[in-house]
This record gives sequence, structure tokens and C-alpha cells, in this order.
Amino acid sequence: MLSLKPLPLSHNPSFLHSLTPFTPPPFPRTQTLKPSKHASPPSAIQSALQWNRKPELAGETPRVVVITSGKGGVGKTTTTANIGISLARLGFSVVAVDCDVGLRNLDLLLGLENRVNYTLVEVLNGDCRLDQALVRDKRWSNFELLCISKPRSKLPLGFGGKALVWLVDSLKQRPEGCPQFILIDCPAGIDAGFITAITPANEAVLVTTPDITSLRDADRVTGLLECDGIRDIKMIVNRVRTDMIKGEDMMSVLDVQEMLGLALLGAIPEDLEVIRSTNRGYPLVLNKPPTLAGLAFEQAAWRLVEQDSMQAVLVEEEPKRRGLFSFFGG
Ligand code: ADP
Ligand code: MG
Repeated sequence: MLSLKPLPLSHNPSFLHSLTPFTPPPFPRTQTLKPSKHASPPSAIQSALQWNRKPELAGETPRVVVITSGKGGVGKTTTTANIGISLARLGFSVVAVDCDVGLRNLDLLLGLENRVNYTLVEVLNGDCRLDQALVRDKRWSNFELLCISKPRSKLPLGFGGKALVWLVDSLKQRPEGCPQFILIDCPAGIDAGFITAITPANEAVLVTTPDITSLRDADRVTGLLECDGIRDIKMIVNRVRTDMIKGEDMMSVLDVQEMLGLALLGAIPEDLEVIRSTNRGYPLVLNKPPTLAGLAFEQAAWRLVEQDSMQAVLVEEEPKRRGLFSFFGG
């Protein structure tokens, strides 16, 4: 039976081949999360300035980012919707591509399901133009959604990674300008759909939950992404429950990071508001007042723009002040 063993951060993350028994990390572990760029916590004034500035876009555009996980139901689509809308709110142009063939749901999370008339399959068949298949968001005109195919449909034979490479090239040549971010919501699994989705990407966001099944799949996917030449892989740890971590019933973000050896883009707490917003078709980051998970997604979007990451650190004692921002170490 395959099992997982914590590895040092510098280690190659592909520990799937190591068949050593899984030794749970030493509990109890109390953790805080801190941004990696700041050695010491910023002052109140510095933080205010930080939130008033716009993040600086790093890297070449378009940034083609695949959001993947291996395991289903860990939060890929939720992450795509919320990071996508956050990027649009920060002023960047975004095209989100739902690559989940036959089981698409990004349109539902964004509340755009009634506006999807054409998909990429129809574009490739010559039934419509690409701009007719791109659905503009109601709230943010710099956010567009593209679905690969109609719900419950199957992909035509021969549809593969080349179709997405063509899509990225066509988006680059659009008269209105190339989008700054192309986010690809990857289907679960590691079969043809996964290979298709990762083909045009030059960076990846790996979503995982702090449980052993999700971690094993995440590690397998990391190996496959690296084989495909995607070196820039950051992870989001979703559905984190501090109460369970304290009760030694859940791995901490630090444990997850040590196991996968990936840079941390964000840690998203388990939040009932996520489910509410999913059912309402209203991305969580637009909620007023903001929720913990919404803020965590916004911060992850900020780090994605700046190609920054955060660090989960271990502290000896619990922080004395426990406010809204204590989860993020702020
Ligand atoms: P995937 O795309 O990986 O299959 P989804 O994004 O569709 O996963 O999420 C699966 C379910 O988990 C959804 O019902 C969603 O509302 C819920 N969910 C995702 N993230 C969270 C969270 N942080 N807190 C609570 N529920 C969440
Ligand atoms: Mg999904």
C-alpha cells in the first residue's frame, strides 16, 4: 500500500515512489501563516498602503494558469471562480476556461449559466466565432468565461491539447488585446481531459485539502505537471479547519507544505459561505462584508499576480490576539 511521509521543503516533491509507512506529523502543532516577502509583520500604516496599491504583474502575459488537483471535489472550480473574479477586480483582464467536459459547473458558480450559448467545440466546428463563445461577466467586463463543451456532451474525437493551444494563440491575437490571465479549470483525474487542460499552461495552481487521499493525488499530479515541463507550481490548501488541527484531527498547512514541497499560494479555511455562494451563483470574493475564505482567495490572487508565495510557520504558543486577520498572520 502506498503511503505518504513528510519531506523537507527542499526535497523533490515526488515522494509517491517512497513506499515508507506514513508517519503522522507530531501533533499538536499551532501555526500561523505569514507572507514570505516580509521578514517582520508590517505596521498598520504599511498594511493600509499595501491594500491601497495595485499588485505588480510579474511574468510574461498572457499568464496561462491551470488550476488542477487530481482528486475531484477539493475546490478547483471554486478557486478558479474566486481568483478569476479577484483578478478582474484588481483590474486585470481574465479569460476563465472551463475544461470539465460534460460536467462543467464554473458557469453556475459565476451565475452565468444562462448566457452560455456557444462553446469551444462549436468554435472549432466553425459554427460560431470565438468572441461569440466568450461570455462576459455581468459585474466585471474584463472577466470572460469560455466553456469547452455543452453539459453532458462528449468531446469530439481528436479534440486535445492542440485545441487549447490554438485557443491561447487566438486569444493572443484578439483585436481588443490579449488577456493578462487565462485560467484553466482542469477536470478531476489524470486522463485525457487532464492532459488536454495542462497542455497550454506555463504555470499551475494545485488545489488540495489537508487529507491523505487528496495529498496523494496532488503529489501524483505534481509529478505529471513537472514531466510536462510546468515548473512553476504553487498550491492552495483548501478547507482548512483550525479547530480540527488543534484537536489533532487534521494536518496543518505546514505539514501539507512539508509533504508536497510546493510554494504556498494560499490557505483557505472551511467556510459555509463558500457553499452558500456556490448555490447562489455569486462568487464569494464579492460578499459584503467579506468572509475569511473570501479574503484568503483575494490574497491568493494578489500573490498569483506578483508570483509571490506565503509560508506556513510553526509557533510555540498560540497568538494572544485572535481577530479576523489572525488566521492570515496579519
Ligand atoms: P472541484 O472543482 O475540485 O470538483 P468544487 O470547487 O466544485 O471542487 O468544490 C466542491 C464542493 O466543495 C462545492 O460544493 C464547494 O462549495 C465546496 N467547497 C469548496 N471549497 C470550500 C471551502 N473552503 N469551504 C466550504 N466548502 C467548500
Ligand atoms: Mg470542478
